[in-house]
Amino acid sequence: MSQAETHEFQSEVNQLLKLVIHSLYSHKEIFLRELISNASDACDRLRFLSLTEESLLEDDGELAITIDYDQDKSTVTVRDNGVGMTRDEVLENIGTIARSGTREFVHSLTGDQSKDSNLIGQFGVGFYSVFMVGDRVTLTSRKAGAGPGEGVRWESDGDGQFTLETVDGAPRGTEIVISLKDDCKEYADGHRLRSIINKYSDHISLPIRMPEMDGDKKKHDFETVNKGSALWARKKSEITQGEYNTFYKNLSYDSDPPLATIHNQVEGNLEYISLFFIPSRAPFDLYNRENRHGVKLYVRRVFIADDAEHLMPNYLRFVRGIVDSADLPLNVSREFLQHNKAIDKIRAASVKKIFGELKRIARDEPHNYQKFWNEFGQVMKEGIVEDHDNQQALAQLARFASTRSEGSEQTVSLDEYIARMKEKQSAIYYVTADSHGAAKDSPHLEIFRKHDIEVLLLSDPVDEWLVNSLSEYSEKPLKSVAKGELDPEEIGDKEADADSKPAEEIKLLLEKFKSVLAEQVKDVRASRRLTDSPACLVADEHELGGNLERILKAMGQDAPAYKPILELNPDHPIIKGLDPEADGFEDWARVLFDQAALSEGAHLREPAAYVKRVNALLSGKQPERSRIITPG
Ligand code: ADP
Ligand code: MG
Repeated sequence: MSQAETHEFQSEVNQLLKLVIHSLYSHKEIFLRELISNASDACDRLRFLSLTEESLLEDDGELAITIDYDQDKSTVTVRDNGVGMTRDEVLENIGTIARSGTREFVHSLTGDQSKDSNLIGQFGVGFYSVFMVGDRVTLTSRKAGAGPGEGVRWESDGDGQFTLETVDGAPRGTEIVISLKDDCKEYADGHRLRSIINKYSDHISLPIRMPEMDGDKKKHDFETVNKGSALWARKKSEITQGEYNTFYKNLSYDSDPPLATIHNQVEGNLEYISLFFIPSRAPFDLYNRENRHGVKLYVRRVFIADDAEHLMPNYLRFVRGIVDSADLPLNVSREFLQHNKAIDKIRAASVKKIFGELKRIARDEPHNYQKFWNEFGQVMKEGIVEDHDNQQALAQLARFASTRSEGSEQTVSLDEYIARMKEKQSAIYYVTADSHGAAKDSPHLEIFRKHDIEVLLLSDPVDEWLVNSLSEYSEKPLKSVAKGELDPEEIGDKEADADSKPAEEIKLLLEKFKSVLAEQVKDVRASRRLTDSPACLVADEHELGGNLERILKAMGQDAPAYKPILELNPDHPIIKGLDPEADGFEDWARVLFDQAALSEGAHLREPAAYVKRVNALLSGKQPERSRIITPG
């Protein structure tokens, strides 16, 4: 054994250590994850080298990681029989920062703790995290293939210096003994260590061994404490649906089996595995945007984080599962995930995979797809609004109620709708309302019903935003039946009936309506939409419309000032019988306007005045100072 030499840490390492100790990790327990990950890497590397040089394994071919502890001495020990390090390698890996990227990083430190701790997570500095819990760390290592006298011991209290000496008789691989700080003695405990392993490293494929326990007492024999093989890393063909279901249950605490299992093992440039589940039922907190579960991110079987932001778009927040990347460093920070090309690619590919599976279910298992849509349709519609890149794909997956479907269930796809379009029809027509009933009975549908043109009935709150951002599907524009002017050619309507009012008289009537209702409406015009009702309200092409205005108000938001257009049905007996010069005309105009508002679900500003007028008309009484012309 040689005399121990004292070395100074490189100044960058000192800086780094200070940061690690004071601000790198909020969860000190992750030191174990880092050491296990290094040990696992060391074993993987030895296994690889031994493929061509079997003698490197010496007599010890069973690669494993051992975690031990001593409550009296307050120590935790992590041991592996992996590739080990030479003296030079220890010097280079632990004590200096050799990797240029890391050096650059240290030079770019700002001194601002919060900024630097965000930055630092992006770099592989796992070993140093041991100083979050230890005030003295002893690392002993012997490189595979090196002689029995070529062991090396490194020791430091993390403050400026370390010592290095050569030792005899060290076993192959690396042993790290951590003397715990006073406030970290809790880690010298079998239960605590097992639970950390369970949380972060259960899927390490090597055995992780710990002393057996008898209650709280440590025994002499060792046992394997990790489950070992990650389900997702096994060959797809060798996994049963039952195994997937059990895995899903542990992951989600959902007692129902998943509706779909999507397992993808990707090789090549970007190497990763994804395993996603679509639940059969919506979780109770689906609409609580704060309460997201997200997808678990692993790096080479090591658990990194529950990620609810980067791996899955918000509208797929019901998808559960894991992503295991072979290309990311273990110390991944939020910022890192945000700007990482690999993560972006994995996310885009995952979304495509999920769409693909949903399309397949829609085609092969329509009953299941309907169940899916009933549970998650509203959230999927958020995607049409939020995800421009995938808007058309999402629109294809969407289902709606329509004038052709039964009840309020959303069963009609846009493709089906288009296949049923009339010869001259160029647009996809819809009506929005605050309930299915209001949509179904909307007066705006009358002309469409007459000509047998299908109209989508939209009554989910998100629908208003959906039609706002989805301007067309499959090159067919989406058009509200309650907005703008209708093209008579398009809806197959011919000239107005021969016995309707002459044009001159209509003009006069419209003018008179306009002057009575000047406060409430923007315009009054003859309608092409109505066959049964005397009047309806419409909006200009690019205006909010009544339904959206009401939704915004209910949300407590300022809706821009909006005045509807009143459309009158010149063929309706009431309209035909109206005399603009008669005394009671004003009451008729107001009642017709209020009725049009009521029929689209609005609340009247002066309901009592409306009731009074209607009652007067019903009882045949002449409203004060007026002589009414009985219509018809
Ligand atoms: P990273 O693992 O990201 O490289 P670490 O700080 O965790 O960063 O480790 C630094 C280096 O130290 C590793 O790359 C490896 O070369 C070496 N090392 C650490 N632990 C071990 C070990 N148990 N066996 C062999 N080499 C190790
Ligand atoms: Mg590491």
